[in-house]
Amino acid sequence: MRTAVELRDVTRTHPGGVTALDDVSLTVAAGEFVAIVGPSGSGKSTMLHLLGTLDRPSAGTVLVEGTDVSRLPDRRLSALRARRIGFVFQQFHLAAGVSALDAVVDGLLYAGVPQAQRRRRARRALERVGLGHRLGHRPHQLSGGERQRVAIARAVVGEPALLLADEPTGALDSASGAGVLELLRELSGGGTTVVLITHDRDIAALLPRQVRMRDGRIVHDDAQVEATL
Ligand code: ADP
Ligand code: MG
Repeated sequence: MRTAVELRDVTRTHPGGVTALDDVSLTVAAGEFVAIVGPSGSGKSTMLHLLGTLDRPSAGTVLVEGTDVSRLPDRRLSALRARRIGFVFQQFHLAAGVSALDAVVDGLLYAGVPQAQRRRRARRALERVGLGHRLGHRPHQLSGGERQRVAIARAVVGEPALLLADEPTGALDSASGAGVLELLRELSGGGTTVVLITHDRDIAALLPRQVRMRDGRIVHDDAQVEATL
């Protein structure tokens, strides 16, 4: 089993003293599709930031593809993040006035893709999420579901091995949310490792592995249950 990402005994105490993550260990194998669920404030986003190397633990180790990221100089870490990890958030984070195509091209700036290929790759990524007819549209001309699909295209245009999504359906109506989930399933089927935070139990129940959090700890992990059977 190749490991996509792993937390070993990770604690994260935020400035101010809140321990958002309390001695958590989690291993995600390459190709897995994992749902992270739990009440608001249980530490889900903190965990996702740590998995994505956007944040550093107060204690413990984060390994991406087997590499202890605390040992990487900042420049190597940024490169690893840009090439291997894609992020999707609840609030799409699309800049006003920037076309869908340019937004997705931006997703390639730090991924080591030659400039000449960027627009073609971006167009293909938008076609893949069903937005080939919206290339020139700006965020205010797109529906919520379409904006999230642009954000997903931007996250996956560099073909990251790992896609981390924090409540990507949280701001969408159920039909658009189902479309986004379908898209994540397709990416997963294509080999991308996907970690999805959701508080939609129906969505979580559809995924092969659920990890449940409470008060900064993992209180259930289907993978652990399986391992003890
Ligand atoms: P979730 O995503 O499950 O709602 P979070 O990881 O966002 O949970 O937050 C877990 C806890 O850590 C909460 O008590 C929250 O207030 C606190 N927290 C999160 N981010 C920060 C931060 N940057 N600074 C201080 N406290 C934070
Ligand atoms: Mg959160």
